[in-house]
Amino acid sequence: MNITTNELRHVIEADRAHIWHHLMQHKALETTDPRVIIEGKGMRVWDAAGNQFIDAVSGGVWTVNVGYGRETIANAVRDQLVKMNYFAAAAGSIPGSLFAERLLDKMPGLSRVYYANSGSEANEKVFKMVRQISARHHKGKKSKILFRERDYHGTTIGVLAACGQAERAAMYGPYPDGFVQVPHCLEYRKQWDVENYGERAADAIEEVILREGPDTVGLLCLEPITAGGGVIVPPKGYWERVQEICRKYDILLHIDEVVCGVGRTGVWFGYQNYGIEPDFVTMAKGVASGYAAISCTVTTERVFEMFKDDPSDPMSYFRDISTFGGCTSGPAAALENMRIIEEEDLLGNTLAMGERLNGNLHALMEKHKVIGDVRGKGLFQGAELVADRVTKEPVAEKLAQQVVAEASKRGVIIGVTNRSNPGFNNTLCLSPALIATSDDIDSITDAIDGALTAVFG
Ligand code: PMP
Repeated sequence: MNITTNELRHVIEADRAHIWHHLMQHKALETTDPRVIIEGKGMRVWDAAGNQFIDAVSGGVWTVNVGYGRETIANAVRDQLVKMNYFAAAAGSIPGSLFAERLLDKMPGLSRVYYANSGSEANEKVFKMVRQISARHHKGKKSKILFRERDYHGTTIGVLAACGQAERAAMYGPYPDGFVQVPHCLEYRKQWDVENYGERAADAIEEVILREGPDTVGLLCLEPITAGGGVIVPPKGYWERVQEICRKYDILLHIDEVVCGVGRTGVWFGYQNYGIEPDFVTMAKGVASGYAAISCTVTTERVFEMFKDDPSDPMSYFRDISTFGGCTSGPAAALENMRIIEEEDLLGNTLAMGERLNGNLHALMEKHKVIGDVRGKGLFQGAELVADRVTKEPVAEKLAQQVVAEASKRGVIIGVTNRSNPGFNNTLCLSPALIATSDDIDSITDAIDGALTAVFG
């Protein structure tokens, strides 16, 4: 980028003076410069101070799946914008149709795509659909929405009502009624002393359904692998039982693939690791790898048909619109993103590199007592830091932050989940782009090795 040192200084000062950053205690920026990322290529990014980093978190939040600087995506978006940039999504578009067709090819059993802009919105569309189904088809029954402890579904008040991370939702109530939490399924922090932990954790969902009354519950919303809540991979037997329970009580199953979707775990969608058949799937982040804003709410023909029951009644169709859900840049970018994943066999690479990353983290666990647990699938891995392996007491948040800072000094950006949540906090979170090479993976874990030694000795 052609930008002079003085111009860069101006950018940093303008940031300090005017930007309110996401998820940040701004007091920290009174004594240090804000991080301004100015360029990216492949797995690497550069900041305004000229530092180069390997990005082990795909843009910070599991997003840039195909890596930075993809000219073919930029060109696809540019060409589309010049031809036709926008018309409200009551009308269709060329990339909208073509991407929906390609996407549904990978999602047997599902047949309709509803476009919006963000993961939060995609999830809220599901909640609205379920509430409308309740109003029109169940006389107001089956309106409750179950969500799981530690799961996250977005930032608006509607989806925060379904937030399993109490610390994120604590200050923004009151919330709408009809959202009920079910227990988490992290076996490392056992709640039941049983052999079939997966089945037991799923049975806990049934207990909630029976307590609430099955005819009041319309939806069960789950992440395939809990992301920000601590990289929680559901134990064996969990999903089979979840599917059974949903069928038994006629409860729609919604899988939030905002993080796992589009290749992150080495298959197209996280739920496909488990052979389940959801009624709704939502996705955002990696759909277009951050080259354009797009989210999708995908559902079945059975659900879709419920919104056509009485064409003469203006209350029968889905009365929802999202202005920028009609943007053509999103599906244009998503189409090219998907082509790249297929052509470069990034699913195969994700499986191979995921195994390497998981293996390297297990090796670090041998060396560093502070790693209590390693878990993940594909290029979505976590290492939970504990002060004591026996009591599993989490390390202090400050120390986990220091690990992130030390890794950054060693040229690698990593993440840490669950800040400020007693009992769960401080899982290092790794989600490099699906293009990562063996050298990249080893550089990432070498930096973590050095960072852990620097902080814990
Ligand atoms: N669902 C999950 C699982 C997420 O991790 C996130 C964002 N981190 C969201 C939904 C919300 O997506 P967005 O920030 O695009 O609204």
